Amino acid sequence: MEEKTEAAEVEARPLLAAIKTGYLPMSKKSRRSMVKPIYRGGCLCGAVRFEADGPALNPHNCSCEFCQRHTGSLTASWVEFSATDVRWVGSGGSPAVYRSSDFSSRAFCPECGSSLGAIDDSPTVALLIGTFDDHRLPELKPDYHSFKPEKPIWG
Ligand SMILES: [Zn+2]
Ligand SMILES: [Zn+2]
Repeated sequence: MEEKTEAAEVEARPLLAAIKTGYLPMSKKSRRSMVKPIYRGGCLCGAVRFEADGPALNPHNCSCEFCQRHTGSLTASWVEFSATDVRWVGSGGSPAVYRSSDFSSRAFCPECGSSLGAIDDSPTVALLIGTFDDHRLPELKPDYHSFKPEKPIWG
């Protein structure tokens, strides 16, 4: 009986219980945020679609010549994932690739030509942030700029 009363009290006053025990019960919201996020995106025509499990690593801009030629844009925004965390889920399957260096291939949609990312021999897939369904997520904000001297002086 004593036990029951105490349990009921703890339930009714979770914050007090947390202070007493040093254990802070998680709210539903914080429990949700601990689940690995899934990032989704794809090409212009929709044939090549991806799902990538977080964490989203190393978000950055790059203005190297490879990125400029691959995207047609003077600056490309990238984020990286472990290769095992990226799934190609669209009707077109995996993207077409062009071997761009000794260790990496550039990925694009064979239907519409959209640039999608870079698939490295090392277990990393870098995806262009412009292909994400939601590119405004704070964790996708670039941390740094590679090949900065090559970026346009006007932007
Ligand atoms: Zn496409
Ligand atoms: Zn680059």
